Amino acid sequence: MREAIEQLLLPAECALCHTLLSFARSRRIVCDVCRHRWRAVRPPWCDRCGQPEPRFGPCRLCAAWPAALRAVRSAVWLEGGARDAVHALKYRGLARIADDLADVAAGIALPGRDTAGLVPIPLGRQRLRERGYNQSERLARALARRWQRPVVNLLARVRETATQTALTPDARLANVAGAFQVRNGECGVRSERAPANSALRIPHSAFVLVDDVFTTGATLAEAARALEQAGVRSVLAVTFGRAILPDFT
Ligand SMILES: [Zn+2]
Ligand SMILES: [Zn+2]
Repeated sequence: MREAIEQLLLPAECALCHTLLSFARSRRIVCDVCRHRWRAVRPPWCDRCGQPEPRFGPCRLCAAWPAALRAVRSAVWLEGGARDAVHALKYRGLARIADDLADVAAGIALPGRDTAGLVPIPLGRQRLRERGYNQSERLARALARRWQRPVVNLLARVRETATQTALTPDARLANVAGAFQVRNGECGVRSERAPANSALRIPHSAFVLVDDVFTTGATLAEAARALEQAGVRSVLAVTFGRAILPDFT
């Protein structure tokens, strides 16, 4: 409803550069010129975390990740207009821009995604109230339509976490430790007769975590850890943006 009203009231102009969109493109939020400026993350990269290969030695970024987290990929570098687009999704209430982000993220090749369920990274209750929606869930739903896969709200954030922006990689890991739990009851993935500590009855062979931005991977690793502890063996992840970390390129 809110989106329908938004569409009526807002002039059809690009949310990033404000040029008017043609009528044919008026359902979009971002114009073609702005989209083409988004810089794709490209190989060579670490096969696991998708970070460009380090110059020396093995990848440090994903060394401490839980074993279940197999592959993480991001669509574009978080800079310029791509950063503005994420900002619009998170802080300007422009939920519909998730479709523009998903158009790009849908091109990510992720072996195993064809049988996977998409799991958005959940927000804490307070953030959800403030924002009115979970941006990762909007992105997951938009991606699910393109990949024709289901969205499974399998995770709950059981602890509010401080904003990660100013933290070092180690501090980020500590900050999100124990932040997520698997919602067995609500999703019904655990067999009812199975004892509480048995493995989940998994309806999909893998899950794809969906988040808006990848910085050090701490959030995705922690979410994967919660799934792994619930018996999930294979976790993949996609994000729209990837932060540029000078230390890791
Ligand atoms: Zn534009
Ligand atoms: Zn890596």
